[in-house]
Amino acid sequence: MARLAPIERTRNLGVMAHIDAGKTTTTERILYYTGATSRMGEVHHGSTVTDWMTQEQERGISITAASTTFRWRDYQCNLVDTPGHVDFTVEVERCMRVLDGAVVVFCAVRGVEPQSETVWRQADRYAVPRIAFINKCDRVGADPGAVTSEMRTRLNANPIVLQIPHALEDEFNGLVDLVQGRSREWDDSSLGASFHDGEVPDHLREEAAAARGLMVEAIAEVDDELMAKFLADAAISAADIQAALRRATLALKAVPVLLGSALTNKGIQFLLDAIVDLLPSPADRGATSGIHPDTGQREERKVSDDEPTAAVAFKIMNDPQVGPVTYLRVYSGRVQSGDQLLNATRGKLERVGRLVRMHANRRSEVKEVAAGDIGAAIGLRAVATGDTLCDPVAPIVLDTLRFPEPVIGVAIEPSTLEQHDHLERALQALAVEDPSFRVTTDAESQQTIISGMGELHLEVLLDRLAREFHVEARVGRPQVAYRETITARAVVDRRVVREVGGRGQHGHVRLSVEPLPRGSGLTVENRAPGHEIPKEFAAAVRTGVTEAAERGVLGGFPMVDVAVLVLGGSHHQVDSSDSAFKTAALQAFREAAQAAHPVLLEPVMSIEVVCPVADVGEVIGDLGARRGKITGIESRTGVQVVAGLVPLASMFGYATDLRSRTQGRATFTMQFQSYAEMPASLSEELVAKVTGQ
Ligand code: GDP
Repeated sequence: MARLAPIERTRNLGVMAHIDAGKTTTTERILYYTGATSRMGEVHHGSTVTDWMTQEQERGISITAASTTFRWRDYQCNLVDTPGHVDFTVEVERCMRVLDGAVVVFCAVRGVEPQSETVWRQADRYAVPRIAFINKCDRVGADPGAVTSEMRTRLNANPIVLQIPHALEDEFNGLVDLVQGRSREWDDSSLGASFHDGEVPDHLREEAAAARGLMVEAIAEVDDELMAKFLADAAISAADIQAALRRATLALKAVPVLLGSALTNKGIQFLLDAIVDLLPSPADRGATSGIHPDTGQREERKVSDDEPTAAVAFKIMNDPQVGPVTYLRVYSGRVQSGDQLLNATRGKLERVGRLVRMHANRRSEVKEVAAGDIGAAIGLRAVATGDTLCDPVAPIVLDTLRFPEPVIGVAIEPSTLEQHDHLERALQALAVEDPSFRVTTDAESQQTIISGMGELHLEVLLDRLAREFHVEARVGRPQVAYRETITARAVVDRRVVREVGGRGQHGHVRLSVEPLPRGSGLTVENRAPGHEIPKEFAAAVRTGVTEAAERGVLGGFPMVDVAVLVLGGSHHQVDSSDSAFKTAALQAFREAAQAAHPVLLEPVMSIEVVCPVADVGEVIGDLGARRGKITGIESRTGVQVVAGLVPLASMFGYATDLRSRTQGRATFTMQFQSYAEMPASLSEELVAKVTGQ
């Protein structure tokens, strides 16, 4: 079975952008020009091919990462859709793991906006090579030069501009390609599909020559080979520039910049050429590594069809017709339909049924997905996002994604009792798809609680419940995910000794608790000598501590950022049991936590509000009233950006509130920053409320 293209001619890429910069339109044009779709959709008509889910069309943002296949020249390209909204950064992270390169879309008028900074930093963290596409060059106020200087100052990037426009704003119709030294004009009547290439127009010759000189110099500065030619005054060909630029891009030393206007169909073919010419192939990204699940040894898998199979399930979507569709990025070997693979993360065997490739608006069945490629398997039952599927004789768990803890929860119940089971099943299906979404049962009220990364995140999930699963549900008021921690050290010695009839109960644990830095969670270390607490009871002691920590000592919230050291205790030959040690550990931990000055923690969000100068006072005053701290105010192309930290508890309904306060002129982005200690008065109030005292 032949591959669709050699590994060197495979590209796995994502398109990333600040909301509204034109990611959807650009993606859609890419699919149109590569022949993946026959009809051009417009975002404002709600018919864009990558926006699969109805509420995405209504909201105008892409939430789901679907991987779409297209071909350009002889290259096999997989476009992984990345979401544009910060509430879904976990989705962006998950995409980053499977991408080899990215196109970052900027708006020529608005430049580098807060979310572009967020995604840029994520791409930095995963060392993803990028090219920049400055879109909307047709808009009044378009200023690509300003965008590249913002890329330098705000993103610390090294942008290399590869084109100059014939004209900007509503006359934007052609570009000079500085690498090839040619000029291109688009034909509006063919929706930009046909264009005319020719000599650089006379009036642009001088400007183009100067710009080319600067470009070559800038590339030479980060590429020794080109620098050598440059210094030797040797002739520098288009191929030399291209090769040097590719090396610099892959080494993250340069970001090639292209111009265009997706809406008016200009510049997309150049962008496609840059994707295949300048972004890395899976082979360029090198071997991937992970852990052997039995031995714990670190192992590598080369990007080759001949290596043992290893793939990551990076996205699971529930298709009402065929069931779960599991998107796989194959790192090594090949996944074939009919294969038996090991889910190494869970230690379960899975049979691969049908394999498919997703095109913009249809699926095609394939027999295999080879190393470096992306495809989807239909009908895998016990696979969750982030799991590794591999050859059963060469097990490996690939280094996987990090998922943040949810910060907001809400009680949910079906509108009618008959829908109870249906709701449970639907929630489980959603949780498998989205690891930042959790379903739990409140121990006291027995209510089902769903938790996620923000208000919008939960809203979208409720929307999907109704539309995809046809479950009507009622929800309570959103609840903040509070935590508890301690602020001092304490040591407790707890003995549980009871004589009941013949055989007694003997458990005895001495432990210490100590505060840890924020974000550390709970750690339990057993340092008890074996003659005091025999090994067979160590697990029971650990269970006692973790169970106690699940419900803290103030308001019953989980305790975090605590180091527990089990120091010792004693046992009795006959009377000691798991349950006695568990009880002793549980009581010891509770007593210690109470003695160690416990406090409540609340999630604090970082927020950026973008608004006109006239609204700054109003925005700051309002954030202050919400217990917010302003961390910076700066002006950016015609607007002010107010940055701050604010407790999640006071931010419910902020979107609506901000809209009415500023007549819709302000926008904001908000994401979880860290947990922080609550002010004493609020903490007392909350404890009184939850404990009913
Ligand atoms: P996304 O939020 O980044 O996916 O952006 P969209 O593709 O949905 O575009 C946001 C808005 O900008 C829509 O109204 C588009 O029609 C418009 N838009 C996209 N590209 C261009 C462009 O090149 N020029 C102009 N003038 N508008 C554009």
